[in-house]
Amino acid sequence: PIVVGVLALQGAFREHIAHLNRLPGVSCVEVRTKEQLLNLDGLIIPGGESTTMANIAQRWGLIPELKNFAEQGRPMWGTCAGLIFLADRASGQKEGGQALLGGLDCKVHRNFFGAQINSFETELPVPQALKAFESGPQGFRAMFIRAPAVLEAGPSVEVLSEYRLTPSEQAVSNGLERVSVAVRSKNLLATAFHPELTEDSRWHKAFVDMVREGSSREGKEALPQGSG
Ligand code: GLN
Repeated sequence: PIVVGVLALQGAFREHIAHLNRLPGVSCVEVRTKEQLLNLDGLIIPGGESTTMANIAQRWGLIPELKNFAEQGRPMWGTCAGLIFLADRASGQKEGGQALLGGLDCKVHRNFFGAQINSFETELPVPQALKAFESGPQGFRAMFIRAPAVLEAGPSVEVLSEYRLTPSEQAVSNGLERVSVAVRSKNLLATAFHPELTEDSRWHKAFVDMVREGSSREGKEALPQGSG
């Protein structure tokens, strides 16, 4: 089986594990140490509180290793706080901010939709670009919990889902009409919402597809020269 790790420093890691456990051919591990990163085919960074998560990661010496993981082209998926962690730039945070892993050429706005009481759930159209979404309902449930949003994305970033702001949200966001809430750039997938808190496993399947593609590519590259 392929091995998918879930960073288990803080936040909603158990819910991701529960989803992965339902998928065939996937074995999953809770990741807390550098050593555990070595043998993974892919890694999920869960939602939670991104400053806390970054502080713990820093204290445990994981930041450089996590950066390497992304730079080596190994598949990573960040949900919510995990999206912030993967972004190159973040706003809506205190001066100095927290350590970001980066890799995703995006600017995210933390807590874009406001405080806890502005958390909400909506249905969004399925992203056509992902094979896992070829079957199943037309929409998926997107849960936004003190969620970030992607305000700017570079040319390497593919937008998978957008959220259209309501008129009252537009009024407090300088008339901004839409924000990106799911993006993909090469080996990195990031969602502002929490698929792990729903019953729908399609986002997990989509990530596992990415991981499988990644590991088959690695396998090909590993063939000795001239062998084909
Ligand atoms: N607002 C949180 C942060 O900035 C993210 C919320 C979440 O992951 N549900 O880290």
